[in-house]
Amino acid sequence: MADKELTRLTIHEAHQLLKQRQISSVELTKAALKRISDVESKVHACLAIVEDGALEEAERADEYMRTAEDVAPLTGIPALIKDVICTRAIRTTCGSRMLEEFVSPYDATVIERLKAQKAIIVGKTNMDEFAMGSSNEHSAFFPTRNPWDLSRVPGGSSGGSAVAVSTGEAVYALGSDTGGSIRQPAGFCSVVGLKPTYGRVSRYGLIAFASSLDQIGPMTRDVTDCALVMNAIAGHDSRDSTSVPHPVPDYTRQLIADIKGLKLGVPREYLVEGTQDEVRAALETAIEKLRELGAEIDREATLPYTKYALAAFHVLAPSEASANLARYDGVKYGFSEADATNVIEATAKTRQFGFGPEVKRRIMLGTYALSAGYHEAHYLKAQKVRTLIKEEFDRAFEEYDALITPTSPTVPFKLGERMDDPMQMYLADVCTLPINIGGVPAISIPAGFAGDLPIGMQIIGRPFGEEQILRIAFAFEQATDWHKRTPEL
Ligand code: GLN
Repeated sequence: MADKELTRLTIHEAHQLLKQRQISSVELTKAALKRISDVESKVHACLAIVEDGALEEAERADEYMRTAEDVAPLTGIPALIKDVICTRAIRTTCGSRMLEEFVSPYDATVIERLKAQKAIIVGKTNMDEFAMGSSNEHSAFFPTRNPWDLSRVPGGSSGGSAVAVSTGEAVYALGSDTGGSIRQPAGFCSVVGLKPTYGRVSRYGLIAFASSLDQIGPMTRDVTDCALVMNAIAGHDSRDSTSVPHPVPDYTRQLIADIKGLKLGVPREYLVEGTQDEVRAALETAIEKLRELGAEIDREATLPYTKYALAAFHVLAPSEASANLARYDGVKYGFSEADATNVIEATAKTRQFGFGPEVKRRIMLGTYALSAGYHEAHYLKAQKVRTLIKEEFDRAFEEYDALITPTSPTVPFKLGERMDDPMQMYLADVCTLPINIGGVPAISIPAGFAGDLPIGMQIIGRPFGEEQILRIAFAFEQATDWHKRTPEL
């Protein structure tokens, strides 16, 4: 099989070919590494590649498959991991100078779970520093570029992972999502990205941004692959006290391409002012398709508190970030500025040089929102808004099986376009961050193009209702070709 074809395979296709011994893991891994060396100078999606390590793992996987009776779906298949997830053998920088040389002493639980299936970890992907951003331009190292148009951003903060999947640098990737960081770049790069329910996937070994909102999730070429990666990573973990001991279904079980009778709401609050005409048009066409497939569509769905989500998010997330990032003081690990005469100066300089401007902005906003005298006016008020938003989702799901929205109000924007205007940057997540505040799951799937620029559709589900949104996404995918388009590079 030619390299080009190998780098277009989905997990489930590669798995079949591996099982039938038509391809080997070494071939598949070499093809991915070749693709990385061909396109990396254009897209800059990766922060680390472990060529030798990956090939050794691939050899071991091939050897195992020669005699194994039962081969797990991810065995022998190359993956890339967002650099916010700790890996023992590879540096974990979190896109920051602060952790530029950091090597974690342990693997995150999700990494252990991939390794338990003998997945091949090829390297780590670029991201906005500490996952704060929507364009990858806040990486301390370099910006990643959108493979559909190299003058545009891939979205963020899991932009490197989205690009890697879209270009064929890996068959799938892991991302993390605090306010949209899996779904928004998935939408911008035309791949599938799922933010699971809060508590569904262990965050042990995920470097914390805002702990009440962070989740790890899959970024894949199609919905079936998304279900397969969820099967591997979901489930309780005693090392993450927020992970929920809820049974994990087989997420492929409901992929049946039948959505007759499901009731889908289209909340009007998500078609915000500033939503581009092309995005509206693509969503209309997608909704029509869902109707043809037998879903009942309600255009009158309304979740009025949505309009407070952006403001609440930008109080809650920075508040938690300011507490989480207090640990980077240059003492135990990470960057440390030696040129100081006392400990206060050392800490101050470490943080001055170790953090980039967006991270500093968040720390300052958060510290302010939590400070005595302002705590009630800002942080407590935002927490109350969070409860209202959560209750509003609960009510909506009494009536609807799922909610349908655009993933982002716009197509991918130009590099540099929003860097001087944080508010414009934050607006890129206006459709995705209410979902983190509500703690519910949502998926972004390819749903159209404006010229060559991808448009994503978001499907929001009940808590622990991942199966249902995967089913809707699968039915839509079976009836459309958007996911089959690939960027010319
Ligand atoms: N883009 C949002 C932010 O800047 C969300 C980021 C994320 O989900 N990690 O905070």
